[in-house]
Amino acid sequence: MTFPHSTQWRALLQKGDMSSRDLVEESFKKIKQYDPKLNAIISHYYEESIALSRKSDERIKNGERGAMMGLPIALKDNFNWSGSQMTCGSKILKGYVSNYNATVVDKLLRAGSIPIAKANMDEFAMGSSGEFSAYGPTLNPWDTQRVSGGSSSGSIVSVAAQYVVSSLGSDTGGSVRLPGSFCNVTAMRPTYGISSRYGLTSMASSLDVVGPCASSAFEVAALLSTLVGQDAKDSTSIDLPRCESLYPLNPLNLKGVRIGLPMEYFTDGIDASVRKVIDANISELEGMGASMIPISLPHTAYAIDTYYLICVSEVSSNLARFDGIRFGYRTSQSSSLIDLIAKTRDEGFGEEAKRRILLGAFCLNQGHVDEYYYRALKSRNLITQDFQEAFKKVDFLLTPVSPSVAFPLGSKSKDPAEMYLSDVYSAATSLSGLPCLSIPGGFVQSPESKAKLPVGIQLIAPALSDVKLLELAHAFQLSNTHHLTQPVL
Ligand code: GLN
Repeated sequence: MTFPHSTQWRALLQKGDMSSRDLVEESFKKIKQYDPKLNAIISHYYEESIALSRKSDERIKNGERGAMMGLPIALKDNFNWSGSQMTCGSKILKGYVSNYNATVVDKLLRAGSIPIAKANMDEFAMGSSGEFSAYGPTLNPWDTQRVSGGSSSGSIVSVAAQYVVSSLGSDTGGSVRLPGSFCNVTAMRPTYGISSRYGLTSMASSLDVVGPCASSAFEVAALLSTLVGQDAKDSTSIDLPRCESLYPLNPLNLKGVRIGLPMEYFTDGIDASVRKVIDANISELEGMGASMIPISLPHTAYAIDTYYLICVSEVSSNLARFDGIRFGYRTSQSSSLIDLIAKTRDEGFGEEAKRRILLGAFCLNQGHVDEYYYRALKSRNLITQDFQEAFKKVDFLLTPVSPSVAFPLGSKSKDPAEMYLSDVYSAATSLSGLPCLSIPGGFVQSPESKAKLPVGIQLIAPALSDVKLLELAHAFQLSNTHHLTQPVL
């Protein structure tokens, strides 16, 4: 029997046709079958997951219901889940076992969801392709010669290959949206602060958010409904208005909805085949009653530079704690304390992490801080003001997620500047803390093979309009089947 598409798992569970335990068994069957090829999982926890599924089945039997009750989930390997290994995709944390739960993991467990595995990722969430993991690259299930996108590569591929209905990723500059677009998964960057970052290993604290990923906007909303809420352990956390409407999610009526198309995002840089798919989506939304309005976001051109200056600065500060003394890996030979720290960091961190630590230390150095870091903060304000002006005229914005489909493995990993440009359409919203979503928009034919390659579209909303944004995406997904198409594995 072929197991039903993961969008149906919830209904099967609710009808009693499948138990939580059946779903968990299915997840592990898929991991065993496909993960040797895809490498989406760093560690998995069969015994623990089965025990948790039994508890959830018991709760369901006792009449308990809930948005995530009984559903298996994969966690990006930068979330602390007590008793599980957390590597952050780095050699420096190999063997580190968490001794506490991230707030969002606690919330999932309380809601009866079952964490089954820790998912592969670019080291410390730095990367756009899933190739910068110390545990090897995660491959794209649509074409294993291509990247899956990063940094939440494993979380996204776990959904795309149907190991799970949903997963937790993190998004700092695009890390759920880009792989979502490359692998045909719905992936959200919520408004900054609406879920706690406590226990999510910091990359760039003013940009990091917990990113729910799933097989549809409906499932993303169900997952988000269990994650949100202010948390005393994260001083930047805030409550989300209308969060009770996240589950079960209703579709938005698109009549009279105004969607802005920022002209700076629709330039010649987009591949013609990707542009065609995006245009088809625009027509589809117009057909549903939305009107498209040309908009300008004049400071868009500074987004990448601004993002990378702020990001590397915060990275260099956050990664200072990995010194071989408190966590994980330690060099085997050293002559002094300083030597131990230096050697551990040299041996433990990969190229990209070291590059950012050095660049960040440079940007924050007293002689340069005005010229780089403070200037980037000013530019961040201008980018945010662009969005505020735009949202006086429109309800949402629509842009590409990426100028191209998933690129071939190895084609950008040697050139950091080229890799950074992959974030050209995702960095600005991150800087402004806005909710945005990558949803499947259709496919283009691979030039070299028979493979169909997914194209995502990005929808952006004003801060704290997360529910409305998901309602828009849900309405759109009720009218098409792009998100239901599966890769042939
Ligand atoms: N690709 C971006 C970077 O490398 C985004 C990373 C992320 O969102 N975690 O910084």
